[in-house]
Amino acid sequence: MHDIRGAWRRTAEGAGLLSPDGLPIPTIFAEMSALAARTGAINLGQGYPDEDGPVEVLEAARAAIAHGVNQYPPGRGIPDLRLAIAEHRRRFAGIDLDPDTEVLVTVGATEALAAALLALVDGPEDEVVVFEPYYDAYAACVALARARLVTVPLPWPGFQPDLDALRAAVTDRTRVILVNNPHNPTGAVFDAEVLREIVTLAEQHDAIILADEVYEHLVFDGRRHESIATIDGAASRTLTVSSAAKTFSVTGWKIGWITGPAPLVDAVLAVKQFLTYVGGAPFQPAVAVGLRLGDAYFAGIAADLEAKRDLLATGLRDLGLEVAHAGGSYFTVADAAPLGARDAADFCRELATGAGVVAIPLTAFTTPAHRPDYATLVRFAACKRIDVLTDAVARLRAYARSAS
Ligand code: PMP
Ligand code: GLN
Repeated sequence: MHDIRGAWRRTAEGAGLLSPDGLPIPTIFAEMSALAARTGAINLGQGYPDEDGPVEVLEAARAAIAHGVNQYPPGRGIPDLRLAIAEHRRRFAGIDLDPDTEVLVTVGATEALAAALLALVDGPEDEVVVFEPYYDAYAACVALARARLVTVPLPWPGFQPDLDALRAAVTDRTRVILVNNPHNPTGAVFDAEVLREIVTLAEQHDAIILADEVYEHLVFDGRRHESIATIDGAASRTLTVSSAAKTFSVTGWKIGWITGPAPLVDAVLAVKQFLTYVGGAPFQPAVAVGLRLGDAYFAGIAADLEAKRDLLATGLRDLGLEVAHAGGSYFTVADAAPLGARDAADFCRELATGAGVVAIPLTAFTTPAHRPDYATLVRFAACKRIDVLTDAVARLRAYARSAS
């Protein structure tokens, strides 16, 4: 397909997914989930839960299909879901939103991010600042928009950025500071001073903050999620993205949303309406039910995942690995060097057959220049049943014994 012209090439290249002979490569998630399926390995790679979410939410989707909610919803999303999103934002972040103008329902957080980046940056003069390692879609969309990705490394094992490096990265060319908190793939929850610095820099350089907060309800250790839009000076320049995927264990439903000042939301809508127009009609009322669940539900999912993080992290530490403390998200990162890892991607391929466990190399989320800094680091997803995690840890233990 070398002679097929178009934006696919720079999109694939931006995400590090163009082979040396110019062919597109599947994402690391596609590759590793296929490897797990092929080998029968336990999949701690792609981040999706192996248990269903709340029954009320599932039931509401079934009822919606049964009651004819099967045609195009309105372009911005059904009014009751937009209202539920606004209520949820008031309840958990103390932010008041007009559901008619400041809330947009999207096809997952992925579409919200893609539409926002395509709407807000345009060409090589425009820079998007992100922390590295970064979620793969960011680099792909920045490349699709022909903009420049500027990365600020998150140093192992704390994964908090150096504030001077952050200051140096943000300039008047910065159109967007894209911050994912809690952070995929590292599991980091950023310190308050990091978030404050981002807001200060955005104000100084008139940049827009695009906040990917899909793990907003998965913050551990007694901490509360701090939505960056709540920091003084941020609200007028921040678009916040979230999704039903992680909060209600429905990654296949692809219902997300983006909220913020009406003119920014309008700009995103101008692009979004020609990407998918709309999506997921019967899932929209179901997600509204989920967003209105009681506080115990949201506290419960954090406690559940925190216990799973502990099980996984303890299991990995017991193998003699250094493990980063995950303050939130689905993910825990370990340094697999003691297990013989030299190149994390090769190691993860070997681990699938050697140990029967699939994980994701952090190098899949880095620029080539910084790849050596993350060369032996591996991301494990904790969003699996306790018995599955226990089995995975036992398999890793057996592998470590045979490798030593
Ligand atoms: N952002 C981050 C940081 C993610 O981990 C994911 C994957 N769930 C997404 C966005 C995409 O979310 P969705 O499945 O709602 O498109
Ligand atoms: N967000 C999921 C993860 O990080 C994967 C989503 C995808 O496959 N694109 O594991």
